[in-house]
Amino acid sequence: MKKHNFSAGPSILPQSVLQKASEAVIDFNQSGLSLIEISHRSSAFVDVMESARALSLELLGLQNKGYQALFLQGGASLQFIMVAYNLLEKKAGYLNTGTWANNAIKEAKHFGSILELASSKDSNFNHIPKNYTIPEGLDYVHVTSNNTIFGTQLQNFPNASPLVCDMSSDIFSRSLDFSQFDLIYAGAQKNMGPAGTTLVIVKEDILGKVLRSIPSMMDYKVHIDKDSMFNTPPVFAVYVSLLTMQWLKDLGGIKAIEKENQRKAQLVYDAIDQSDVYVGFAAKEDRSVMNATFTLAEGADAETFGQMVKSAGINGLNGHRVVGGYRASMYNALPLESVQVLADVMNEFNRKG
Ligand SMILES: *Cc1c(COP(=O)(O)O)cnc(C)c1O
Repeated sequence: MKKHNFSAGPSILPQSVLQKASEAVIDFNQSGLSLIEISHRSSAFVDVMESARALSLELLGLQNKGYQALFLQGGASLQFIMVAYNLLEKKAGYLNTGTWANNAIKEAKHFGSILELASSKDSNFNHIPKNYTIPEGLDYVHVTSNNTIFGTQLQNFPNASPLVCDMSSDIFSRSLDFSQFDLIYAGAQKNMGPAGTTLVIVKEDILGKVLRSIPSMMDYKVHIDKDSMFNTPPVFAVYVSLLTMQWLKDLGGIKAIEKENQRKAQLVYDAIDQSDVYVGFAAKEDRSVMNATFTLAEGADAETFGQMVKSAGINGLNGHRVVGGYRASMYNALPLESVQVLADVMNEFNRKG
């Protein structure tokens, strides 16, 4: 039986997508060939890449607005480097909201000076810093929209340009005015597809402003000019990402999934707030709709809770070691019924005391 999969990443994909992906591995569109044994230059795969690039822009409402979509490799972690390589000349501003933001800062420091605009490090990143000022003259501002490990999520984005956003763990999960961003990147393995590709959406007019020479593989412009096919792309990861985006479009797109995601998160946060045994980690106003983090109150029987979780068929609920406790990751593909199972277990454990 399928487990209720709350894994933080790589994470759950729609069952229908897994089914189609597995069929394509054996026989892609009745071609007599596997998706992963054909040339990436074949028209069959070029179609996949072009559809994936176009659909990512369509879902975000960014078609015909000067943006290009790329499916690159190296994970979001390589984007920490590529962003700075392509955009950082003198000084950039970073909002430090946790481990991933911190890693982005660390890598960018290889290319220029970094101004930490604000940080919630002193409280183990349990909230999003507010009321910070952004000086004039920065090369760009970088934020992390959802802090996967800590379970916090930005509601308001800085009014800055260019604005760069790591959306690895909440891409396609909520409606925003995506045109406020000049560069968005997201590792596929949280909310879009398998590990192995990273979606980069970049507004072309922010490129070409740094003086350094950029190696081809690091250069967004090179990838744009080659239609995201400068070298062999991760064909399977791109195809499965396309299937997931098509699944989302058929559901009604971001607006439809956003409602569902809110209902799911509400179930878990209600279970936390209406209990004596759960302590939410993130500040209420900054709670993430994707990752809900909590611990057990002192004296609660973690072993019993763990057994109840396990026998309900729930997978992947352990918190990240820097927060401890539990983390319920409720990405787009996780059905409401799975979250209801978790909420029922949480409520039952709370009643038992
Ligand atoms: C998981 C994650 C990353 C790291 O992604 P990789 O693809 O493993 O490099 C970066 N940022 C955020 C917000 C993440 O959740």
